[in-house]
Amino acid sequence: MKKHNFYAGPSILPQFTIEKTIEGIKNFAGTGLSVLEISHRSKEFIACMNDTIALVKELLDVPQGYHVIFLGGGASLQFCMVPINLLKNKAAYLVTGEWASKAFKEAKLIGEAVEVASSKDRNFSYIPKNYTIPADADYFHITTNNTIYGTELKEDPDSPVPVVADMSSDIFSRPVDVSKYAIIYAGAQKNLGPAGVTMVIVREDVLGKVERTIPTMLDYRTHIKAESMFNTPPVFAVFAAQQTLLWLKEMGGVRVMQKRNEEKAKILYDEIERNKLFMPTVSDPADRSIMNVCFVMKPEYKELEAEFLDFAKSRGMVGIAGHRSVGGFRASLYNALPKESVEALVEVMKEFESKK
Ligand SMILES: *Cc1c(COP(=O)(O)O)cnc(C)c1O
Repeated sequence: MKKHNFYAGPSILPQFTIEKTIEGIKNFAGTGLSVLEISHRSKEFIACMNDTIALVKELLDVPQGYHVIFLGGGASLQFCMVPINLLKNKAAYLVTGEWASKAFKEAKLIGEAVEVASSKDRNFSYIPKNYTIPADADYFHITTNNTIYGTELKEDPDSPVPVVADMSSDIFSRPVDVSKYAIIYAGAQKNLGPAGVTMVIVREDVLGKVERTIPTMLDYRTHIKAESMFNTPPVFAVFAAQQTLLWLKEMGGVRVMQKRNEEKAKILYDEIERNKLFMPTVSDPADRSIMNVCFVMKPEYKELEAEFLDFAKSRGMVGIAGHRSVGGFRASLYNALPKESVEALVEVMKEFESKK
């Protein structure tokens, strides 16, 4: 049976990435060696790293003055690296979910951090509006897509202070104006590649302003200077990410992705609204994520959730159980997920409804 992969992360990758990665595992760049056993100092891998960085710059239209680096430690390490490198007096955080809360918590370990607004009062089911960003903050941290709760901040924010964004789960899903951000970071395992590498885009002029001693590995400048080769980079994960970026370019880039992603999300949200059994967890359509679609069964059908999960599973739907903090269901519609998979899920929802 065909499987439809709705996992939230690690998650579906383009078939192109899988196939090219298999090729690279067997014979990397014509070297006769596997990408798993090649020196990161080999000219072939240095070329791979440089190409990957160049592809990110091209696909996201990264302006002058910014560096793209690849690091270990996941997006979670960025939760502390950001304040260590940027926080002098005060940092401001928009708390829109679990990842945002974790980032905020780390900042408080490093210095003063304030919550500008939070949607915790309604289990993070909306994006706070009408908040004021303190003009004396060193930076304002946001999480553009709240993977667990299915909300997304789709507009690049206007801010009086530098903006730092965790874009782990919506990077490359739509165009962003990079010039509006001081730092953008993203763990690879949602839209880019396998786990093990984190992409960071950093504007040079925000660095070097703090007085604290920064451990070498946690200093962005170390990795900028060494072109992501200060220590052994995650060679395999970078190579696989390069394949996804090549695919993305071939597909027409982030604008084409946005169109496809919006179309996929609409198909599913429309069905959630129409189907008598289901309801979305995010009520304002403007706040709904196009990457992670969260929904539950209406209160009167609540007891059918486990049955629906089993039914969907029997039809090849993988990874649609909601996160434990939301319950219900979550279908992640990352770039690589074809529209056919969304249509298949909608069919399963209709079929289940017709039996009830
Ligand atoms: C998945 C995710 C993370 C965590 O990434 P790790 O690489 O596991 O540290 C952080 N933020 C967001 C928005 C995520 O979706």
